Amino acid sequence: MMIKTRFAPSPTGYLHIGGARTALFSHLFALHNKGTTVLRIEDTDLERSTPEAVEAIMESLAWLGFDYDEGPYYQTKRFDRYKEVVEELLEKGHAYYCYCTQEELAEMRAVAEAKKEKPRYDGTWRPEPGKTLPTIPEGIKPVVRFKNPQMGATSFSDLVHGNLSVQNSELDDLIIARGDGSPTYNFCVVVDDVDMEITHVIRGDDHINNTYRQVNIFKAMGKPVPQFAHLAMILGDDGQKLSKRHGAVGVMEYYDRGFLPEAVINYLVRLGWSHGDQEIFSWDEMVQFFDLKNVNKSASAFNTSKLLWLNQHYMIEKNPAELAQLLKPFLAKIGVATEDTPAFDNFLTKAVEAHVKRSETLVELAEMIKYLFIDEIEMDESAKAKQITEASKPVLEELVRLLSALSEWEPEVLDAAVKQVTQNLEVGMGKVGMPLRTAIVGRTNSPNLDETLYLVGKERTLERLEKAIAMI
Ligand code: GLU
Repeated sequence: MMIKTRFAPSPTGYLHIGGARTALFSHLFALHNKGTTVLRIEDTDLERSTPEAVEAIMESLAWLGFDYDEGPYYQTKRFDRYKEVVEELLEKGHAYYCYCTQEELAEMRAVAEAKKEKPRYDGTWRPEPGKTLPTIPEGIKPVVRFKNPQMGATSFSDLVHGNLSVQNSELDDLIIARGDGSPTYNFCVVVDDVDMEITHVIRGDDHINNTYRQVNIFKAMGKPVPQFAHLAMILGDDGQKLSKRHGAVGVMEYYDRGFLPEAVINYLVRLGWSHGDQEIFSWDEMVQFFDLKNVNKSASAFNTSKLLWLNQHYMIEKNPAELAQLLKPFLAKIGVATEDTPAFDNFLTKAVEAHVKRSETLVELAEMIKYLFIDEIEMDESAKAKQITEASKPVLEELVRLLSALSEWEPEVLDAAVKQVTQNLEVGMGKVGMPLRTAIVGRTNSPNLDETLYLVGKERTLERLEKAIAMI
């Protein structure tokens, strides 16, 4: 059997992290099994779907690097096909017209509520052998209801949860087309999965209740029921349902916060799936190892520090010249003018190489190297109070004296000059390094002094040292 999976987001908002995980798992499952993937935009809810949301979802999928073999298909472009299947089901007696008014339906709900029962359709218009249906009222546009079996149970074998089953008496006769003829959600999903020949439906476990209804529609259409794998929820760091409260939940917010897609993907693959105790996976390894057998039934909790750890791993692993390109928009955001010239790129790459191990996100890295690109650095107040003092004044002055005399500005020469200062003044390296860093970086944390001095450059170094001396 040729395996085919789909990702079927509803464009009612951004692609959230749970959706991205669903997209990832259905992708990996297809690729692992040498199958294919379909992207389907479930935009039948005309009030809640927006073109902006479609755009946002596409942008997120592109950022994550997911390519689809087919699609995007749009449900709104398939209304004729849904109509055709509604007709077919009506003809075959699997569906029927229901002329109940809103008032009658409200009455049914009220009766059920009074009896403390689940509100359900009472079957007024459901045809049965030997049953006389009410007279069709004037002026009412009927809805079409699916004739769900009433006896027995509907079950399916879920690839994550095992056998799942519900009594048919629990399931209503679902409306599949509204009074205006527009098809409803659960019905469209089935028609699409049939037409697109989906073999494996991988989605969030909030859809399990829909699946029972959908299984019966597949059967009524006389089509094979696909396999289902329902993925458990993702919880926030605090064990509560993941929500806006937890900060970033939209995929592109991770971009904005300076994460690399490789890190987000590697993080997501471990949210509910494991392969021994391996944590770091290349894309090829994910494809090679992924299976639904090792997907967890229970919810997994988000762990931001692990994501940060992975992000740092991928930042360090990335080619520094490429990382430099990715960093440019983050520099621009904090007011650093960037250029697309070989000289600028070379310098930025060197800056990235020197600082990458000290930051966990591109946002942090941009902040960290900002001092190399601006004229006026901001000095950390507590570093200034501790390092730019009467006691360090002779050190700063000696640094100016030796550094200004240098005709070359290369790391080896700079290293020697700094050592010379410690010797001349008979002080330890800390007494030189800390004030020097504070003066030229604005804080006491920076790469090796020779590298830092080299990157800041002679002119700016001397300027900043003089300025620091003047502050004392
Ligand atoms: N459109 C649904 C959603 O975004 C997914 C439906 C499905 O995968 O069957 O939650």
